[in-house]
Amino acid sequence: MSASSVTIERMQCWLLRIPTIRAHQLAVATMREQRIVILELTDSEGRTGLGEATTIGGLAYADESPDSIRLTLDIYLRPYLEGVQLDPPAIMAALNAGIVGNYFAKCAVETALYDLLGKVENRQLSDYFGGRRTNVLPCAWTLASGDTDGDIAEAQAMLDARRHRDFKLKIGKRPWQQDCAHVAAIADAVRGEASVRVDVNQAWDFETARHAIPALHEAGVVMVEQPLPVHDLAGARALCELNGAAIMADEALRGGVYPARRIMAAGAAHAFSLKIAQAGGLTACAEVADTARTAGLGLYGGTMLEGGVGTVAAAQLFATMEAFIWGTELFGPLLLTYDILVEPLRYAEFALHLPDGPGLGIAINPDAIAEFAEQ
Ligand SMILES: [Mg+2]
Repeated sequence: MSASSVTIERMQCWLLRIPTIRAHQLAVATMREQRIVILELTDSEGRTGLGEATTIGGLAYADESPDSIRLTLDIYLRPYLEGVQLDPPAIMAALNAGIVGNYFAKCAVETALYDLLGKVENRQLSDYFGGRRTNVLPCAWTLASGDTDGDIAEAQAMLDARRHRDFKLKIGKRPWQQDCAHVAAIADAVRGEASVRVDVNQAWDFETARHAIPALHEAGVVMVEQPLPVHDLAGARALCELNGAAIMADEALRGGVYPARRIMAAGAAHAFSLKIAQAGGLTACAEVADTARTAGLGLYGGTMLEGGVGTVAAAQLFATMEAFIWGTELFGPLLLTYDILVEPLRYAEFALHLPDGPGLGIAINPDAIAEFAEQ
């Protein structure tokens, strides 16, 4: 059956609430659970496509919350999907023309469209974005227990298990000198075995960043993610000229290729953290990557701490790209106490191994919906 004869019959979405394995401390929030929006599209033959929209800390990270994403999908995006021919580019063009913003919700839709199309045509999702260059993506882990000794023990356990050897530390909540001592102790403990990066989640002003970044670089930090508020491009440019750790843009990329171009024009980043949700979908994220590559920026595969569906969607796209010099951080499912996939994603030898199979190559365990769905 060709895709052109397939019609989307039904859209359903659930909001799942799943506890995390430990408290996850960021400058903007401390997470003890993750709330995950799952979207399912069903075609006239009963085949299904899955998508996910997940954010961090309610409204602390972005202006879409899990609850608003579900409502947006249910009320405003449903008419673009139900009863409509399965044609992902046409549907996304209509969505982008008719609905401003709502990048996370749009990402869930585009993921589900391509998952369904892949199942109809028996093709991997990666095939629609140029095909896979690899089946294995290096995967970092975030140390964010808030406790130095706890983080060192966690890092050592990850190294012993050969699961992760790039560590990101969430800082910015405490005075920078305290953060720097915390980071230096961890960097010392893993020196020679692992890389250490930090994510400030916009918590610093320029004066703080100007002092903290050279000190962190001296301690062994190779990259600093989103040190300043997203609008301070002049500050970020000055930090890029410090000649220390690489400066990575993350939250500043919300909205896809247009903010990406502004950051590049300002010379305000050495690298981009690519996130399919923040870009507004897979196609928009691929555009950000292409734009970055033309300017020689480094690429990193970022996460919104999605569960298995959003994580594998990002992996399917990132596996098609070249020049991933910073690797990825697609560890979201590992932070949750329960894996919603029938067959959990495989993490081994410091990497995420992509599944085979059409579309996303995964299925959701119906028990997960029954157990964790909010009403
Ligand atoms: Mg970040």
